[in-house]
Amino acid sequence: MSRSDELFARALEAMPGGVSSPVRAYPSVGGTPRFVREAHGSHITDVDGRRYVDLVCSWGPMIAGHAHPAVVEAVQQAVAGSTSFGAPCEVELRLAEAVVARMAGAVERVRFTCSGTEAVMTAARLARGVTGRPLIVKFIGCYHGHADSFLVAAGSGVASLGLPDSPGVPQAIASDTVALPYGRLDLVAELFATRGEQIAAIVTEGVPANMGVIVPPPDFNRRLAEIAHAHGALLVQDEVLTGFRVSATGAWGLTGQRDGWTPDLFTFGKVIGGGMPLAAVAGRAELLDQLAPLGSIYQAGTLSGNPAACAAGLATLGLMDSDAYARLDSIAEQVAGIVDRALDAVGVAHRLNKVSNLFSVFLADEPVVDFASASRQDRAAFSRFFHAALDAGLWLAPSGFEAWFCSTAIDDDDLEVIEKAVAAGARAAA
Ligand code: PLP
Repeated sequence: MSRSDELFARALEAMPGGVSSPVRAYPSVGGTPRFVREAHGSHITDVDGRRYVDLVCSWGPMIAGHAHPAVVEAVQQAVAGSTSFGAPCEVELRLAEAVVARMAGAVERVRFTCSGTEAVMTAARLARGVTGRPLIVKFIGCYHGHADSFLVAAGSGVASLGLPDSPGVPQAIASDTVALPYGRLDLVAELFATRGEQIAAIVTEGVPANMGVIVPPPDFNRRLAEIAHAHGALLVQDEVLTGFRVSATGAWGLTGQRDGWTPDLFTFGKVIGGGMPLAAVAGRAELLDQLAPLGSIYQAGTLSGNPAACAAGLATLGLMDSDAYARLDSIAEQVAGIVDRALDAVGVAHRLNKVSNLFSVFLADEPVVDFASASRQDRAAFSRFFHAALDAGLWLAPSGFEAWFCSTAIDDDDLEVIEKAVAAGARAAA
């Protein structure tokens, strides 16, 4: 029995499913999750001493690799001055200023939270509070965290588990969320034509990545903003996953910033906290200032704006200059190419969906454009791919409904490991 097997057996006796977050238990690919001992740069080492090249990056945050010296030093300095103050501090202000500066005119205020879930929950409350309307529109297969309003036709782990609508979410709350198939502007327009006066906001991922990556149709987010605005509703662009990853200014940088339009609210998470529990809701002052204490829409948090988390986020953003993004894009291009060629070589039907440095490989023989087509991928073949690649030293998300995340720490030796592991995965999938 491996040490991971031993620890997982113990974990099942102390923690539901043995984990703190469901997908970590490998519910859709089967097998025992490997317990991690430590991680440095592009590598994860498990408790049995096996080393993997990491293409999960803690589900996104570790964009500059694990335990980057600049991040470690910033966190060490911060915690030496206490792990929490529950009062304003300078590093929190500096991170907020850095986000405002980076998001060049699109963001004037930043409210920090501890998780992406809280950030999107706050954005929804703000949109409802500001408009005085109840309905939220979301897209089937998009994931916005596990707040009640968003566990309706959700992606990520709930999709992997086949539980997109969770028991425990009261019908009264779920019925204020309307879920539409992704990409269908005609249905969005139709919904607004009939119920527009009740809709507070459309909430969409900057680039959907929680049913695997879906390439947004051209101008999709801009058209959503236009439809919402024409009816007095807001567009919330959830950039928890894409923010500061797919470009220096996230998905907005690939669309709105280029084309001159801006969502009303953004949510950020993952990269903004450099691997610490930190997220944010952000946007124009006239909206964000309606949160308490200036406004009456309530939101709070004992650990929000935590100094160690803000220090990790600030150090991580500091590492991600234009050279770092160019490097990340080139690494992702190479990794995606390796996977594409390996699957071609063994004749496994697949679709590579890629937006900037974020991609997914679906074992599917049709274009994957929404949750329905993503659900028709060959999940059994993905499980075989996953386990063979894992055994050959590649740490992948244990579900075909997730994105592949690269870090700037990946080097040529890692690319060789990836090539061999992916070839093993492809042979197993064939
Ligand atoms: N929004 C998006 C787009 C996400 O990808 C996630 C998490 O994966 C969340 C919200 C929820 O963030 P958290 O897991 O920090 O609560």
